[in-house]
Amino acid sequence: MAPFSWVAGVGIVVAIAGCGSSDHSDREGPPRRVVVISLDTLRADHLGSYGYERPTSPALDRFAQEGVVFERAYAQATWTLPSHMSLLTGLYPDSHGVVHDEHRLADEVPTLAEVLQDRGFETAAFTDNGFVAGSFGFSDGFDTYDDHVAVADPDAVKGLERTLPLIDRWLDGHADDDFFLFVHTFDVHGPYQAPEELEREWRENAADGSWGDEGPYLRSLRLLDYLQLEQYRSLEDLIADYDAGIRHTDGLVERLFDQLRARGLYEGSLIVVTSDHGESFFEDGFYVGHGVQLSEAEMHIPLLVKFPDGRFEGRRVEEIVEMIDVMPTILETMGVSETQHPPMQGRSLRPLLLGEDSEWSSVAFASHAYAQTWCLRTPQWTLISPIEPWIARGYVIPHLKAENPEALFERLPKDYQLYRAGEWPTPNLAGEQPQRVEALKKQLLRWKRSEIRFRQQVARAVERRDFHEWEIDYLRRLGYLGPKED
Ligand SMILES: [Zn+2]
Repeated sequence: MAPFSWVAGVGIVVAIAGCGSSDHSDREGPPRRVVVISLDTLRADHLGSYGYERPTSPALDRFAQEGVVFERAYAQATWTLPSHMSLLTGLYPDSHGVVHDEHRLADEVPTLAEVLQDRGFETAAFTDNGFVAGSFGFSDGFDTYDDHVAVADPDAVKGLERTLPLIDRWLDGHADDDFFLFVHTFDVHGPYQAPEELEREWRENAADGSWGDEGPYLRSLRLLDYLQLEQYRSLEDLIADYDAGIRHTDGLVERLFDQLRARGLYEGSLIVVTSDHGESFFEDGFYVGHGVQLSEAEMHIPLLVKFPDGRFEGRRVEEIVEMIDVMPTILETMGVSETQHPPMQGRSLRPLLLGEDSEWSSVAFASHAYAQTWCLRTPQWTLISPIEPWIARGYVIPHLKAENPEALFERLPKDYQLYRAGEWPTPNLAGEQPQRVEALKKQLLRWKRSEIRFRQQVARAVERRDFHEWEIDYLRRLGYLGPKED
């Protein structure tokens, strides 16, 4: 039997659900529209709704008040490709299998778009290409998949400025349909870019200072050339520019909300705003950016969910939740029962909101296939496995194009890292608490074993995918591949 045989049973299940009490306690049945917005590289703790003091996010803060803020939501990977694939399949990276940049999702792994398309939803995505290009399998199940950003032209209009008019036109043609709209943008992603005036104001207000001794070290990591570190006076200056980009993006997201409001589609829709990973700002003395390791700054993501018609308005959820929980939450909210969708590793968050799950197991996992490192998070602790020396020399150092390999090697954690929840950056407590590390290692191992069992039930999801030359140039500008070799 094919690994995903759920489709065959759909007809029967629908019939049963139709005459029973399928209920989700929604007063007027499931919503007809769902919108998922992924703001690539957005750290949760740089938004007002997560306690940030600089006014980066007035629109998203208002949105957060109308919905639910998941305070402790964590990504399952720290770079764009595997993380978005987890968002749109409800599977851990090792299960959907798209963990290397030449991977493509196998056809037999159903995506959120495919499930909703099978249920009669019109499906459309507007993205900034790169590691969200449709050809990685992201376009599976979408009637419209726009990833046509003019990557060859660095000066072309990009991001939401490019896609908002396209979305506006698309909405014109589909305002009466049931639909799933997925919007992705690199607007917050480095190289940080905000309108000049905003950027100037925020950077002028940033504390003066300098990079000190760390400047030469960071500049020796040539992968970071895409961030143009030499233009910043200090780390604070760089962070101010990142924040100005968030503020700019926040205004664009408000325009998207306005497009929905103008057609009466905002109130009644399920709308999710999240990110695929955060951004490190040298908190662990290692680097600036994301995707090379598992760190708190890179795993903690915003997750804001506005349920239709004010349901759960103003709630804040403290339990640990995972990005893979988004798809099951959407499907349950949209009235798709468990037997009508593929097996997923995420869990619907609705029981948490309805107070039906008093024993929610608050754990999150993340993995990094290139760095061969794993993370387990519990309500009290975060455990991160070490990057082995041979991986450091075989992957991390060459990937970051370190001109001084030993300086980088010295800074990498050589052993397990243990952090108390909510206290980061803090000293690594692993040395003081060996028994706790052992217990958490066992829990991590149990998870890895259950993941392998799950994976054996669903086909290994990987197919090969080749890059075009223009894609390589574009990814390089986003800092994924390092500068061109001379
Ligand atoms: Zn990303």
